[in-house]
Amino acid sequence: MNITKQNQIYEGKAKKVFATNDPAYYIVEYKDDATAFNGIKKGTITGKGIINNRMSNIMFRLLEKNGIRTHFVEEISDRETIVRAVKIMPLEIIVRNVAAGSFSKRYGVEEGRELLHPTLEFSLKNDALNDPLINESHIAALGIANELELDVIRRMAYKINDVMSKFFAGIGIRLIDFKIEAGKLPDGTIVLADEISPDTCRFWDAKTNEKLDKDRFRRDLGNVEEAYQEIFRRINV
Ligand code: UDP
Repeated sequence: MNITKQNQIYEGKAKKVFATNDPAYYIVEYKDDATAFNGIKKGTITGKGIINNRMSNIMFRLLEKNGIRTHFVEEISDRETIVRAVKIMPLEIIVRNVAAGSFSKRYGVEEGRELLHPTLEFSLKNDALNDPLINESHIAALGIANELELDVIRRMAYKINDVMSKFFAGIGIRLIDFKIEAGKLPDGTIVLADEISPDTCRFWDAKTNEKLDKDRFRRDLGNVEEAYQEIFRRINV
């Protein structure tokens, strides 16, 4: 592909997004910056950008093979990937298999309790409001997604959970929960966008339940870089 990087159009907490010579494509660049608690905690996880770029692309390819459309086009360097230009829907789409994090806190459920079935929840992506929970009726009433689009998102989220849970079980990792984002192509098609990485998923070692994700950074558990490397190593074995 003859796509070249142009001006930066967006800088998020973990990635920069650049326009290209073709309006149908962006280039994303993954950074080592890490934030937690809505930006209150800031730091660097050395090498994270490389791992998250390469790992996300491995996951996107796996999901594409399983019939899920994604924004992924081509990895062009350690930290940079060409993606389809999409309009990100302002939702955090969260699937959970095991209680952890904000779910445990909100409902008073101990971390690690297996849920009887996977759950789906949405937060409104809005830093100023602290990403509040939002239900499907609210999402439709606000025009963020209509019923048909919600149906597509729901099916996509559960399918991704099935594919990823099996994949990670095969490499000795429990997929506890994860967050995805959906984007819309110009023709309205909804595709998986953003990233899939230890920044956006909870991964626990299947034998020891050791945390191998961003909770090591959020909770000052140490060995943060090592956890990202360990996940990446297992994916590539
Ligand atoms: N998550 C994310 N970005 C966010 C909030 C959550 O990627 O802004 C991911 C998080 O890594 C976890 C899942 O979504 O895998 C569920 O997170 P939770 O709602 O428990 O929030 P947290 O405890 O991280 O505040």
